[in-house]
Amino acid sequence: MKRLAKFYCIASIGLLIIAGFIYIKYKPLYKVTLNGEVIGYVENKEKMQEKIQSFTNDLEGNITSITIGEMPQYELELVSGIKESETKEDVVLATVKEQAEIKCRVYAIKLDGKEKAIVNSKEEAEKVVNDIKSELSSGMSINLEIEEQEKNKKEIDNKDTTIEVAKLNIDKDVQVQVKEYERKIAESRSAENRRKAKEASQTQTKTTKGASAPVTSSGMFMKPVSGAIITSKYGQRSSGFHTGTDFAIAKGTPIYASAAGTVTYSGKKGSYGNLVIIDHGNGYKTYYAHCSALYVSVGQSVSKGENIAAVGSTGNSTGPHVHFEIRYNGSTLNPQNYV
Ligand SMILES: [Zn+2]
Repeated sequence: MKRLAKFYCIASIGLLIIAGFIYIKYKPLYKVTLNGEVIGYVENKEKMQEKIQSFTNDLEGNITSITIGEMPQYELELVSGIKESETKEDVVLATVKEQAEIKCRVYAIKLDGKEKAIVNSKEEAEKVVNDIKSELSSGMSINLEIEEQEKNKKEIDNKDTTIEVAKLNIDKDVQVQVKEYERKIAESRSAENRRKAKEASQTQTKTTKGASAPVTSSGMFMKPVSGAIITSKYGQRSSGFHTGTDFAIAKGTPIYASAAGTVTYSGKKGSYGNLVIIDHGNGYKTYYAHCSALYVSVGQSVSKGENIAAVGSTGNSTGPHVHFEIRYNGSTLNPQNYV
């Protein structure tokens, strides 16, 4: 009997030692699997589930949703050879986080419908757009839009969502449009200038005042008389606008054709008195007024320097002189710019 008791006692101690040994070597742990893969071991299943729950509920910042495709599976096992670090709940949580689909609300800025930058708030997006627009020259417009979007966090994690980078990215493309705009403005300005110049030259032909010199081959015209003095210049006088230059010289002095051409008038004409008009082509005509004698007739071709008339004081004149005019397309020019 005593022997038997001794046996049981030894057996019990042995079992205890074995149990103790098993307890030390094998731990009852929850094997956590996600999508069929072991992602770690935890001691407390409920605590782990709570941690995951609070992670998916933690929608801070821009995060709009956290979705874990499949919830982790737990299986109680007696496990051996697990290091302390591998039983950490944080390791499991990190893996769960890694595989979760986290969506964020972001604001995309689009230029002409193409996404150019992403920022985290509507206010930031508006600041970027306003800053860029404020730098444009007046009259220029660009097509910048802000669009609220939901994106995968992984998609934007490697993107710079600061407003500085957004501005840089957009401005790069806006500058291309600015250059194009400036080119068009310059183009339309020069077109406008050409139009104005054309208009001005057309106006010139309608008025006898303030005509500026059109292009002519230099030396085309010569003085109608030699040795004369100019007694009245072309331009505004107290008595009105003087449409020619007065060369005063003795009556009867020969008047020469200022350039080659065809006589289109030769005769009396109001205050001009006796007048010769020569057409030189290309819009140019010359007038020789107050003549005492006329030597040419209408239709006659004359060469440069040919004697066409004689100085006189006919018409509105106070003394012998030749009133000499150069006209271009009907408007008078200052003869002193040409002879
Ligand atoms: Zn005159």
